Amino acid sequence: MRPGVLPLPPPISPLRRVTPSTFQAHRECPLRAVWSAARQNTPLPTFAGAVLGRVIHSAIEYARREHVRSRDDFEQIWGQCMHNEEKVLVQSWTEAHLVPLSQSVRNYEQKKELCWLAVRDIKPSFSRKWRRSPPIWPPCGDELWLETRDGVCVGRVDRINNKGGVIEVIDYKSKVLLPHAEMGDDLGTYTPQLKYYAALYHAQYREWPTILKIVANGGQEIEIPFTHDECESLLKEAYTLLAKVNCTIRSASLDKRKALSSLAKPSPKTCSLCLFRPVCAPYWEGRSRAPNEDWPNDLHGTIIETGRWGKDRVYLDIAPYEGDKYVKVKVIEVSSGRHPALKREKKEVYLFSLLQYKDRPDVFAEGKYTTIYVPKH
Ligand code: SF4
Repeated sequence: MRPGVLPLPPPISPLRRVTPSTFQAHRECPLRAVWSAARQNTPLPTFAGAVLGRVIHSAIEYARREHVRSRDDFEQIWGQCMHNEEKVLVQSWTEAHLVPLSQSVRNYEQKKELCWLAVRDIKPSFSRKWRRSPPIWPPCGDELWLETRDGVCVGRVDRINNKGGVIEVIDYKSKVLLPHAEMGDDLGTYTPQLKYYAALYHAQYREWPTILKIVANGGQEIEIPFTHDECESLLKEAYTLLAKVNCTIRSASLDKRKALSSLAKPSPKTCSLCLFRPVCAPYWEGRSRAPNEDWPNDLHGTIIETGRWGKDRVYLDIAPYEGDKYVKVKVIEVSSGRHPALKREKKEVYLFSLLQYKDRPDVFAEGKYTTIYVPKH
């Protein structure tokens, strides 16, 4: 991937298996699920909060292996987990500016403190070597791998407790959660994952878990009600989705454009969280079909003027190709050093994840996730 130049879209290959997270992606946009499965770098930067989520997850995972006895132990582990993530970020031209994470994640200190509260109460109970062959029945442990007999539906569950025959499936979340009654949509995104694990557990061990539980950063616990039928129907849905997606891919294998548009489900909500927008033609087509909807603040147009903005920033005047609302829009506070595309001296540009001024809708500014590309040709 040449910095600042639009990369090629990832390959479209049939899916071999469905994890809980790709299952959710399938439901929202099969194209995103297929691209995510290709495991290539995304053209837009990962959200800093998600990276910190991985840090928290790693710290909790460590604490389940080894006892974290003191604040000093915790600081050391936290520092190591942060270092591992930041080392990867600095190597990416789209993400390097997110380092240090302590500056780019909102409420960083609060999240770290909550992680400490969660970690200090964890008592490690299972050694690493037991993970693949749990020592007691019904099986339990940390990071337990579950799958259906054919290996199509799979997942790694954070923890399964067996307290005298009461089997608890636990999913750790790095977020601070609202009280159960106020969670609304959030709960809706977490519950299928746990129900999916429950169905996998049953498929593998012929036992149903008793309790499904989310444990949030800080230790807050939320129990998820479930029925066996709804868990099983999630697995059936996963098989149906996989068959449908693979059939679409195979039937359109010679026509890539057709494959893209058959798989894509562009919508303002789904696309706003998708890191594949720069390489997604159906996304731009979706925008032009419904220009008045609340799409992400992305622009495709021609640079008609640039100039200095303050001490070390620049502005860009852009004539957008899309819509007929504005002849010209202004993008201000652009740090040119962060965007290799601006050094390529091309007129045609794509700008993603801009901030828009409420009272001046034709004025945008650079945000933490703003990324600029020029076309390849
Ligand atoms: S940008 Fe939208 S349509 Fe394209 S893959 Fe992402 S979610 Fe799907």
